[in-house]
Amino acid sequence: MAEQLTGLINSTESFGAVDGPGVRFIVFMQGCSMRCRYCHNPETWNTYTGTRRTPQDVLQQALRYKSYWKNHGGITVSGGEALLQLDFVTELFRLSKEQGIHTALDTSGNPFTRNQPFWEKFQKLCEFTDLFILDIKEMDEEKHKKLTGQRNVNILELASTLSDFGKPMWIRHVLVPGLTDDEEGLHRMAHFIKTLKTVERTEILPYHTLGVPKWEQLGIPYTLKNMQSPTAEQIRRAEIILGIDH
Ligand code: SF4
Repeated sequence: MAEQLTGLINSTESFGAVDGPGVRFIVFMQGCSMRCRYCHNPETWNTYTGTRRTPQDVLQQALRYKSYWKNHGGITVSGGEALLQLDFVTELFRLSKEQGIHTALDTSGNPFTRNQPFWEKFQKLCEFTDLFILDIKEMDEEKHKKLTGQRNVNILELASTLSDFGKPMWIRHVLVPGLTDDEEGLHRMAHFIKTLKTVERTEILPYHTLGVPKWEQLGIPYTLKNMQSPTAEQIRRAEIILGIDH
């Protein structure tokens, strides 16, 4: 008998309000290869914890909240890194689209490649994904490596690919004063975003320290201990550079 398709899930949230339009059921996948210094979900990094669930089971749970979604809400898959479990996400979104549910994928883009089998699977995922929410953490490759432990060339290529495919996108940038808010980097990001044809929204995510106790519990040294959250002025300055209107 063929093995049943499952995904490794960290947790779910019934009434998400920020990861996509409207009220959303959020699925947090387990596993991420990045090591962002400000990550507020380090418990999602490993692939030896989490719960194995089928797409059907997750969809059944999500459907309990359907009446709250109205015209705009739906299902968002986030992480950890959702693109590490392409088969699961694609099947969950395929089943969701059969029921007319809006689907959004929140990703750091790190697994993206045009190599097979990823590329073919990714194109299939795109068929069933209404919105991509993509984090751009740094434009400069070296700074990106220092911040996340990984390169960013393929992440920027993912953004360009989604633009070429005509896929709606939200771009997000975590703003850490003194680390990810330098003027040159923000201008480079603004310039890059202008090259993309399908960006519906650009958002600043202000750095916060709510995840720090999790690092301590996991015994992982937290290297941004003295960093502050950005002030309203610092956020506004970055928004102006990135062309964000309110
Ligand atoms: S990509 Fe997301 S989950 Fe992974 S380390 Fe970075 S912030 Fe954490």
